[in-house]
Amino acid sequence: MFQLGKSEKAFEEAKRYMPGGVNSPVRSYRSVGSNPPFISSASGSRIYDIDNNEYIDYVLSWGPMILGHANPEVIASLQEAIPRGTSYGAPTLLETELAKKVQAFMPSMEVIRLVNSGTEATMSALRVARGYTGRDRIVKFVGCYHGHSDALLVKAGSGLATFGVPDSPGVPQGVAENTITLPYNDSDAVRKLFDDIGDTIAAIIVEPVAGNMGCVPPEPGFLETLREVTKAHGTVLIFDEVMCGFRASSGGAQKRYNIKPDLTCLGKIVGGGMPLAVFGGSREIMNQIAPAGPIYQAGTLSGNPIAVTSGLATLSILQRDPTIFKQVEDATIALCEGFERLAAQYNVPVVVQRVGSMFTIFFTDKPVKNFDDAASCNEEQFKMFFHHNLSHGIYYAPSPYESNFVSICHKSSEIERTLAVADEAFKKISDTLL
Ligand code: PMP
Repeated sequence: MFQLGKSEKAFEEAKRYMPGGVNSPVRSYRSVGSNPPFISSASGSRIYDIDNNEYIDYVLSWGPMILGHANPEVIASLQEAIPRGTSYGAPTLLETELAKKVQAFMPSMEVIRLVNSGTEATMSALRVARGYTGRDRIVKFVGCYHGHSDALLVKAGSGLATFGVPDSPGVPQGVAENTITLPYNDSDAVRKLFDDIGDTIAAIIVEPVAGNMGCVPPEPGFLETLREVTKAHGTVLIFDEVMCGFRASSGGAQKRYNIKPDLTCLGKIVGGGMPLAVFGGSREIMNQIAPAGPIYQAGTLSGNPIAVTSGLATLSILQRDPTIFKQVEDATIALCEGFERLAAQYNVPVVVQRVGSMFTIFFTDKPVKNFDDAASCNEEQFKMFFHHNLSHGIYYAPSPYESNFVSICHKSSEIERTLAVADEAFKKISDTLL
């Protein structure tokens, strides 16, 4: 019988010491009205909690674990690295090796800098774009999440959408003023803005496949429009591929849709589950960064040898066996087709959206193209689906505004088990429709 007794006690204690008991808001399960399992270990496609519940994991640490948890080769490389010391704050050979690998996957990243989180990558990319252009204004899209730096916490997705607070207190008015927001996938709005004030805009930052309002692919022509107007107005185009890099394709969304951005941000998979992220792009722009140029950016733990080892091991495996990208995509296709078939069988209106190995089940009857579409989905049905799955060993993101992910450890037996539980969940929802 599914129960979370130990986790519930642990959560009560955690709340005395940490805001809401967690170190990142969506983990609290507040949005689904329950308490989170406390995790004790993970291996392959599975994650385990302190009450000894076992789950097939589709959160995968919010994306990084494309090789599954505790990949033996990654773990072995970490075990080898740790005795050599955990941080030096000095250059290592590993960093250049990782830079070469990143460039092999994404050739637009001619010069890169390593940082510790996706937030740092996007925040720093913005500074570089502003320093390079000498302009202050930036454009972001409603429902895209680019981490929690001030300039980007405006009409943001992910946890902010989950909790209905798209703009955070504590962000100075003067900072937010320089962030212009437009609806995702609205090429006309982009063109109109650039016709009016394009020459004053430093950067467009975009999730080229949105993942933080659920999985929302770019409409044909949207990314092309961004490329065209930024080029015409001397604006820097930043692709935030922290989530979709290595998920949309081996070379991210930029390869899948054949658009070359000026700067790219990577996180999650690039660190193989350790705190590591990257931003990079054209030599001309990136060499404006100190000490090559005047734009300041730094970090005590940047390029940390343990994090870089984890990233290198992960990217080496992906490079050695590029069929991994097709394997995870095929598994995700099988899963999503299964969801669609089952939902149709029970007459539950859902739209399953997928790009590569990321997906979201939207409880709605029309395609989700932007944040307003995502926000109009049926929340109660999502919650029923989520809770039935959690209590039957299937672990999805606890919010309708998130993407789920598949790893190479999700084989046909995992897919079958997942679909069997989805069958029960859709049936349960259909019973409420009668
Ligand atoms: N950009 C995108 C597209 C993300 O999905 C995230 C995190 N989910 C971030 C930036 C921020 O990354 P981090 O949580 O590592 O700061």
